[in-house]
Amino acid sequence: MLTKPKGTYDVLPKDAIAWDKLESTIRKICKIYHYDEIRTPIFESSDTFHRNTADTSDMVTKETYDFKDRSDRALTLRPEGTAGVVRAYIENKMYATSGLSKLYYIGPMFRYERPQKGRSRQFHQFGVEALGSNSYLLDAEVIALGTSVIKALGLKGVKVKINSLGDTETKERYHQVLTEYFSKCQSELCEDCLERLQKNPLRILDCKVDCGKEFFKNAPKIKDYMTESAKSHFEGVLKMLDEMKIDYEIEDRLVRGLDYYCHTVFEIQADIPEFGAQNALGGGGRYDHLVHDLGGPEIPGVGMAFGMDRLLSACQLAGKNLYQPPYLHIFFIGLGQASKEACLTQMNICRLGGLYCDMDFLGKSLKAQFKQADEAHAQFTCILGDNELSQFKINIKNNLTEEQTTISLYEVYPYVLNQIQQRSACAGCKEKEEK
Ligand code: AMP
Repeated sequence: MLTKPKGTYDVLPKDAIAWDKLESTIRKICKIYHYDEIRTPIFESSDTFHRNTADTSDMVTKETYDFKDRSDRALTLRPEGTAGVVRAYIENKMYATSGLSKLYYIGPMFRYERPQKGRSRQFHQFGVEALGSNSYLLDAEVIALGTSVIKALGLKGVKVKINSLGDTETKERYHQVLTEYFSKCQSELCEDCLERLQKNPLRILDCKVDCGKEFFKNAPKIKDYMTESAKSHFEGVLKMLDEMKIDYEIEDRLVRGLDYYCHTVFEIQADIPEFGAQNALGGGGRYDHLVHDLGGPEIPGVGMAFGMDRLLSACQLAGKNLYQPPYLHIFFIGLGQASKEACLTQMNICRLGGLYCDMDFLGKSLKAQFKQADEAHAQFTCILGDNELSQFKINIKNNLTEEQTTISLYEVYPYVLNQIQQRSACAGCKEKEEK
C-alpha cells in the first residue's frame, strides 16, 4: 500500500472544515488591516534561501529540501515564506509602484526536521510582510495583526515575547562583546555553538542545549549595547503596544532563528501544557537589509509568520471548535429515471442561484436516500415521483418542522429561498430581542 511521506499528513474532509474556517478568519483579519494576498511558488531557486554562506540557522543549513530538476537547476522547497515574497517583490519591482507594500500569504512550507508533536515536514504557515517603511509604527501594526488573529480565534493565555536586536551598529558592538565572552567558555559550548561562535555568536543565545548552563545565564545582554536610535525605535514599538493594550513581555534572550533580523523581534507563545517546548504559535521581526541582500534596493521591512497547524491544535486544546457541520439547503429524491433527470435540472437551477444541493447518484433505495438527506443535514427534501412530474409538481418537506407540501416544479428555487430568508429574518429578530 502506498503511504504518505514521513512527517506529512492528510487533511480529510471533516478536518478541512476547520482549516477553511481558520483560513477565512486570517483572510478577514488581513483585509481589516489592509494587507493584500500574494502567492509565490512553493519551490524557488536554491539561492533564494542559501544565498549567504554565513547563515547559521538550522532551517537554512540543515532542514531544506534541496533538489535538482531535469535541467540540473538547483531548487529548494520553501522552508519559510519571507524569502520568496521578497524575491517576488524585487522581481516584480513592486517598490516602484507602491511606497509601502503590505502583503500576506497562506500556504505549505517544508522542513526536513525530526517529525514530532507540533513539528511536521510539510506544515502550513500564514504570514505578513510589510515592505517600504522603517517606522516603529509598522512593527506595532504587524504585532497587532497577529494578536487580532489570536483574539478572533478566541485563544486565551497567549503571550507576546519581544526583544530588540538593534541596528547594524548595535549588532556589530554586541557581536564583538559576545565573541569575547563566549570565546572564554569554549570548553563548555556544544558543537553547534562552537560553529555559531565563528559565524554568528548571537545565535548561541538561541541554543536549546547550552541554555541551562551558568555561563549562558551570565552572558551580556543586548540592551546594554544599543545605540540611541535603536533604543528609541524599540521604545516606540513598546509605547504603541501599551497604547493598543497589547500585553507583552520583554525577553532579553529572544533572538529568533534567522540571521537577517534587526530591531524588533517577537514571538507569540501559547501557554498550553500539551504543547511542551513547541509552544510558539508564531513570530517575526524587522529585516531592514533583506531586500538589498536579495538583490533589490535598500528597502526596510517587517514581517511575521504563524504556524497554522499549531493554531488549529491550540483551538482544539482550548475547546474552541472551528468545526461546523456541513449542511445542504435541499436534497432531491427522484423516484423514477425521468424524475431523476428532472431533479438534476431543477437542482442545477437552485445551485446556480447559490443553494447547496445534492441528490443520489448510486441508485439507492428510497429509505437510503432519506437517510442520506438526514446525514447531509438537508434543510429541505424534495421528492419527485413520475405522477407529480406529469403534473409539473413536486413534494417538498421542511426537515426542521416536518411540514410537507406540494408546489410547482418550477417554484422550488424561489420557495426555498423565501423560506431561508424568512428564517434568518426571524433569527435576527430573536437575537435583537435577547440583547
Ligand atoms: P519560524 O519560521 O521557524 O519562526 O516558524 C514560525 C511558526 O511556524 C512557528 O511558531 C510554528 O508555529 C510553525 N512551525 C515552524 N516549523 C514547524 C514545523 N516543522 N511543523 C509545524 N509548525 C511549524
